[in-house]
Amino acid sequence: MSRNKLLVAVLLVVTLVAGCTPVATPMAGPATSLPAASTVPLTAMPAATAVPSLPSTAIPTSVPPDPLRITILYDNTAYDARLQEAWGFAALVEHRGHTLLFDTGGDPRVLLNNVDLLGVDLTHIEAIALSHIHGDHVDGLPGLVERGLCVPVYVLPSFPASFRNRCAGQLDPIAVEPGQELNPDVYTTGQMRDPAVRIHEQSLVIRTGRGLVIVTGCAHQGIVEVVRAAKLMFDEPVQLVLGGFHLVDSGTRQIEAVIAAFRELGVEQVAPTHCTGETAISMFADAYGDDFVPAGAGRVLVIEDEAGPAVVNGSLIAFVSDRDGNDEIYRMDADGGNQRRLTEHPADDCFPFWSPDGRYCSGFFISIAPTDKSGFVY
Ligand SMILES: [Zn+2]
Ligand SMILES: [Zn+2]
Repeated sequence: MSRNKLLVAVLLVVTLVAGCTPVATPMAGPATSLPAASTVPLTAMPAATAVPSLPSTAIPTSVPPDPLRITILYDNTAYDARLQEAWGFAALVEHRGHTLLFDTGGDPRVLLNNVDLLGVDLTHIEAIALSHIHGDHVDGLPGLVERGLCVPVYVLPSFPASFRNRCAGQLDPIAVEPGQELNPDVYTTGQMRDPAVRIHEQSLVIRTGRGLVIVTGCAHQGIVEVVRAAKLMFDEPVQLVLGGFHLVDSGTRQIEAVIAAFRELGVEQVAPTHCTGETAISMFADAYGDDFVPAGAGRVLVIEDEAGPAVVNGSLIAFVSDRDGNDEIYRMDADGGNQRRLTEHPADDCFPFWSPDGRYCSGFFISIAPTDKSGFVY
């Protein structure tokens, strides 16, 4: 949250507390609880927010992170030595409580072997997205059919009608549209095309509290073009680009140009693998240093959302998260379970507080419009 928003919000609270009894009363109520920890940036709230202290051991001061977790299931190199290496790529994307499989590798036996060794529960997969029709990305599909998966498969409009046969009546192929949300906060670039060799491909663009995470299959459409497309979809920082960068046939000058473009586009971290090629991988490693993330089958990457401040009331916690793209207010149980979004508004909703009886966070919050900084209390 920006300093401006904080200042505007504080001013609004002061104004509203002075002139609006329904708002002032709950804030002074005995059950309204704010954690005492200095890490919670609500100390600028009016003094009325001071509350009887609750047992500090039971009060979390920040929201448990809601991480993005990517597990590389299939790759031509193994990060986890127990796993089989084979040419191809597949990754499990777990985000916002939902699971999507991106690509399937080229050999169902290798895919299932790695899945089982990693203890992945395939029944959690809610959808599959296929980057492009090359065998090293789609030929693992029969293994998933064999295991009884019955989910949508997001394919490109250019996939032939005969592709449906590979789904064995069990998987449901759906042609994606540009920018479509496949799972919460997991989007596709839509079909892009390599202008030279006319290979169609889609990549994933995942929104996290730390910026965009981009996952590619082969990036035949050009890895820099993929990053540019993601930035056009969401004008947000790029935290990580992971997957095949398709630089296996590129010379060092071309690779240098790609690295320079990545810098220009503000790509924070890179995890090149699959068809990136050894030369390009080692050049990225040199250029990115600590921000180079070694990949390979068995690699699990966790990108934490930034923890937000929490407002605690006994066993209930209200908090602000931008997990849906802008700040909204949520509630959850003390153990992080039973999370529910309480607001849904295009402006930023922030500074929740509890009603006087201590039971409800029933709409007492401030919304700040991003454009004119106007705000109001619900
Ligand atoms: Zn390919
Ligand atoms: Zn490939």
